[in-house]
Amino acid sequence: MTQQQTGGDVRLTGISKTYGSFTAVKPLDLTVPQGSFFALLGASGCGKTTTLRMIAGLEEATTGTIRLGDRDITDLPPYKRPVNTVFQSYALFPHLDIAENIAFGLRRRGIKSVKKQVADMLDLVQLGDFAKRKPHQLSGGQQQRVAVARALINHPQVLLLDEPLGALDLKLRRQMQLELKRIQTEVGITFIHVTHDQEEAMTMADTVAVMNGGRVEQLGAPADLYENPGTTFVANFLGTSNLIEGEVVSAGTTGGDVVVAACGGKLRLPSERCTTPAAKGGRLLVGVRPEKISIAPTDEADAIADGRNRVTGRIVDSSFIGVSTQYVVENATGTALQVYEQNVERRAGLTTGAEVVLHWNPAHTFGLDAAQSMLAGTTGDAGVETVEDAA
Ligand code: ATP
Repeated sequence: MTQQQTGGDVRLTGISKTYGSFTAVKPLDLTVPQGSFFALLGASGCGKTTTLRMIAGLEEATTGTIRLGDRDITDLPPYKRPVNTVFQSYALFPHLDIAENIAFGLRRRGIKSVKKQVADMLDLVQLGDFAKRKPHQLSGGQQQRVAVARALINHPQVLLLDEPLGALDLKLRRQMQLELKRIQTEVGITFIHVTHDQEEAMTMADTVAVMNGGRVEQLGAPADLYENPGTTFVANFLGTSNLIEGEVVSAGTTGGDVVVAACGGKLRLPSERCTTPAAKGGRLLVGVRPEKISIAPTDEADAIADGRNRVTGRIVDSSFIGVSTQYVVENATGTALQVYEQNVERRAGLTTGAEVVLHWNPAHTFGLDAAQSMLAGTTGDAGVETVEDAA
């Protein structure tokens, strides 16, 4: 299928949605570049579906405008918008075969010769051999692909996907993520995808908007968001972060290191990786991802290179999960740190109760404002539902 060069950026300006006295989406400015794969990611109830439904025209915006390229589509009814939505429930017609399900949009518009377009769509979603089957004769993943083909045959400028993989089991979901990404690359139109699954958003999207409490908390490319979370919510919701509170003992110069007293020692981090300027005597949350940390038995501590951040502690939990072993190490100050070590070789001496030294490169450390809750975005945060809870 040829790439489509129509449309333009989707531009939301001051878009909000209020139900009575409850604001589901706070005034939001967002630009989704034409041809991008964009994910709205957040926990249940954060307003992502409402945002998507406003773009589809299925929900009227309380304030703001929605533009598609040069066109203001805010007041257009859903069927007049050049967008199509794929829902979690595929909503295929059970009595029609796959080809007729896909042809539905064309037939409704009175188009008679649908054969070529349907064949192209079947090829696109790799279901060429299934044209004559009925939906119940397909797997969940195949049915979802039919739903995508049925939407794409209408040549929308934007495809909206509302938790489209939510009903699939984990393995199939992973396959379909790659499949959807391939289809998006092939057709080249804008995909806006709503999900509560951070791995799914990171796998597929060029840009992820992390939503929390009706607003976008941070927006960026997956790797940027992961490496440079701007808030504790993003640090915890996107993967796992160790956050250690400490007192700034040296604020560092531009391009130099900030030094923080924490975990009974001193931790360093580059000043440019602090989201707020560090001030001597102030509090700071020192952040480091579990996979950046190395773990060594105490008797190997002498071999650790100078200049690395170090925290001593005791292993209080270890879980072997195949690809890695995940440790929880408690420092004498009571701080518990998570460490993921890849299983290159099984190491002796790293059992529960063992005294260990954790060490990592200061460059892999980030600093967040200590005025925020350390638990934001974790499963301990009352506002957040886990992937398992929601599944
Ligand atoms: P989920 O993943 O569970 O669908 P979400 O992030 O997509 O969550 P929305 O469906 O956008 O969340 O809902 C945002 C908030 O608005 C929720 O608190 C929800 O209860 C509320 N809400 C949604 N629709 C309505 C409605 N018609 N009337 C009142 N409140 C609503």
